[in-house]
Amino acid sequence: MSATDRARHLDVVVVGAGFGGLYALHRLRGLGLSVQVYEAGSGVGGTWYWNRYPGARCDVESLEYSYSFSPELEQEWAWSERYAPQPEILGYINHVADRFDLRRDIQFDTRVTAAAFDETAGRWRVTTDRGDDVSARFCVMATGCLSAVTTPDIEGLSSFRGNWYHTGQWPHGGVDFSGQRVGVVGTGSSGIQSIPVIARQASHLVVFQRTPNFSLPARNEPLTPDTQAEVKAGYRALRDKARSSFSAIAVAAPTELALEVDPAERRRRYEAAWARGGLMSMTTTFRDLIVDKAANDTAAEFIRSKIREIVVDPDVAQALTPTDHPFATKRPCLDTGYFETFNRDNVTLVDLRQTPITEIVPAGIRTTERVHELDTIVFATGFDAMTGPLLRIDIRGRGDRPLSDKWSAGPRTYLGIATAGFPNLFILTGPGSPSVLSNMVMAIEQHVDWIADCLSYLGANGLGTIEATVEAEDAWVDHVNQLASATLFPRANSWYMGANVPGKPRVFLPYVGGFPQYRSTCDDVAADGYRGFGLTADPAAEPA
Ligand SMILES: Cc1cc2nc3c(=O)[nH]c(=O)nc-3n(C[C@H](O)[C@H](O)[C@H](O)COP(=O)(O)OP(=O)(O)OC[C@H]3O[C@@H](n4cnc5c(N)ncnc54)[C@H](O)[C@@H]3O)c2cc1C
Repeated sequence: MSATDRARHLDVVVVGAGFGGLYALHRLRGLGLSVQVYEAGSGVGGTWYWNRYPGARCDVESLEYSYSFSPELEQEWAWSERYAPQPEILGYINHVADRFDLRRDIQFDTRVTAAAFDETAGRWRVTTDRGDDVSARFCVMATGCLSAVTTPDIEGLSSFRGNWYHTGQWPHGGVDFSGQRVGVVGTGSSGIQSIPVIARQASHLVVFQRTPNFSLPARNEPLTPDTQAEVKAGYRALRDKARSSFSAIAVAAPTELALEVDPAERRRRYEAAWARGGLMSMTTTFRDLIVDKAANDTAAEFIRSKIREIVVDPDVAQALTPTDHPFATKRPCLDTGYFETFNRDNVTLVDLRQTPITEIVPAGIRTTERVHELDTIVFATGFDAMTGPLLRIDIRGRGDRPLSDKWSAGPRTYLGIATAGFPNLFILTGPGSPSVLSNMVMAIEQHVDWIADCLSYLGANGLGTIEATVEAEDAWVDHVNQLASATLFPRANSWYMGANVPGKPRVFLPYVGGFPQYRSTCDDVAADGYRGFGLTADPAAEPA
């Protein structure tokens, strides 16, 4: 077989070169497999390549939001802040790509448009928008959970005289807002991170808010060399603790119920969590916040009281106060001075529940009340989460069945990693796995390690295909749904539920049973000879 043929007949195609795709390439190449990565962007980094908006940073602390697979990498990399800004995370991912010599197997500026399983050959045929047409035994979808941006379909956008941007596809040269009248549409995580920064630059900022969100202070700060040295000295223990923690973030699990504690003590705990800052401080004060509405109300009311304390104008405070969903049933945001920003003279809040947008006109955005004249519009309107990146590819399994057809009523997976009818297709951090409810780098590593072990097992046992059975998948989907329905999560119109995308089925997408429980199920399945999967012999394998 010539080198070109070998290139066309790969062992594995990996789609995406973010944290997931890079680690998949590293691990699978380490098994001696031929791997080709296709990436739509011009560089590595995924989320951190695309989301270059002002204020973009992680909300899981950097010392944890980083790879754990290489102790040397852990030791040599230094983070500058508690939550690194986007350029630094992108710098880290680029360092990883160089350090592990990953770029030579990545083709950039290439979008995978289709992947079809050829049942006769037992291989995937993968095609791209650059004319590539390759065959691979395995396909790993490292397409990300938050990589398919959604721009609202507002009439008149093309008539707008100024510039407009989506936070998830930010121009590489940055945007100078000096002296500009800027409108930000959307107050989810990206909006909440960017609004304070844009407000400091723009001459005037109009924030268009449909749903007020709970946001917690990040309390970002520089990481001192002493703190880093201390963490690095005990990195293995920290990672182990994270692995056995609900969200794959090293925090102690709460033991008390919110209503067991008297109101003054409860308030004291919330105040302490608010002062510490970060996602986990508040969410882990009590163990019933996400399952008991009365418990949740105590935390929600505390945060509302903080908004009233911070925001000077009571009407603006009221408009910024979330009342339509329990705390943490939408991903809570982390901010640096978000609510304070609304005390600035150059910031206006438009409550779209009172005065919805009717159209975009050449001069700006028209609501039912008036035209807001703008030079620039920023859409911080988020993503078609979890399923969007997969369904934007024409993926076809057995019998030429499109994944979009199979998932028309919502995604169906086994372990969030595989779907029946699509042999040898692996999904990283897919629907039905903890994914976005966890520290995603750790979730990615767990999935990639599981897939690498699985491919080794297939090779060692002369097996050609692995495919989730319908029975195992049905049972998993039921299990995931049961877990979700025992929580408050389904009560929010969140992107976890697909509620931000018109017409998307309302299904709670991630697995809420916690990372340790999930991981041990995956390990048990593997130890049990890949229970719940159908395995077939590889006709090309040498007889034992
Ligand atoms: C602003 C922001 C902040 C975040 N902060 C955190 C955080 O603090 N902690 C946390 O745990 N998670 C966070 N996340 C989630 C984040 O997405 C993950 O942590 C992680 O970066 C995902 O890595 P990934 O490789 O799975 O996906 P991504 O980083 O999304 O990479 C997927 C890649 O696949 C490519 N791709 C998709 N489809 C195709 C195709 N058809 N063909 C070719 N290429 C394709 C995309 O271009 C992209 O580069 C954040 C997300 C956002 C948007």
